[in-house]
Amino acid sequence: MMKFEKDDAGTRTVDIGRGCVFGGPRLVIIAGPCTVEDRVQTLEIAAAVKEAGASMLRGGAYKPRTSPYAFQGLHEEGLAILAEAREQTGLPVVTEVLESADLTKVSAVADMLQIGSRNMHNSVLLQAAGRTGKPVFLKRGMSARIEEFLLAAEYVLETGNKNIVMCERGIRTFETATRFTLDLSAIPLLKQRTWIPIAVDPSHGTGMTSLVPPMACAAAVCGADAVMVEVHGHPDKALCDGDQSETPEMFYRMIKELQNITRAIGRTV
Ligand code: PEP
Ligand code: MN
Repeated sequence: MMKFEKDDAGTRTVDIGRGCVFGGPRLVIIAGPCTVEDRVQTLEIAAAVKEAGASMLRGGAYKPRTSPYAFQGLHEEGLAILAEAREQTGLPVVTEVLESADLTKVSAVADMLQIGSRNMHNSVLLQAAGRTGKPVFLKRGMSARIEEFLLAAEYVLETGNKNIVMCERGIRTFETATRFTLDLSAIPLLKQRTWIPIAVDPSHGTGMTSLVPPMACAAAVCGADAVMVEVHGHPDKALCDGDQSETPEMFYRMIKELQNITRAIGRTV
């Protein structure tokens, strides 16, 4: 029997601390910039998402970019900014680790280690991240099947680390109207197969800001335990992923919608 397989206990909780628990009655909202661009930008967004009701801060210090000429992140300086944002807001931080060599530096700041879509198949990194004992936020490879996604999670579990959350973030299909095709059916399907809490990222999943709130609501209805979204004070000026980032005002309105939806399905935000 695989370690990810569900038993009678259903979804297990993953407790990050600072009041952030995945897999409980409360839908976890993770929000923040795609990338940590500078100190002021990050602290402002962190304060705004906290105020609106987010329970975790996201932001990349090490960015996996398609082009080698695109902004690659502030690295250590970005981690220090995230640590300050956590200090100011009390929000726990999830941030991506791109390679095993960075694990010590990233784990020193992150409350949760993100393994990105492009690294889902990197079994060596999955094992190394698992061995840190830190909670792991594992994103689905953009061309990964559900079975491959579950086996990637198994690499983390096999190290003895049970603190893992799996995140649907859109897959490659023939459709080009959206950046990826958000696979909502993955949510109930994964929940049938595993006890691991499931998150959804409608920002990367669609690539379009206008689609983020409806897909976040749909994810909640499909049983997601968490929603991860990108928020930026000035999406038109964002260094990365402005087209899919919500302003703090849009984020605030989305939280209100999610409050109404979760009330109807016996959960809270
Ligand atoms: C991210 O969440 O910062 C990110 C790069 O997402 P993904 O790995 O899903 O592309
Ligand atoms: Mn992004």
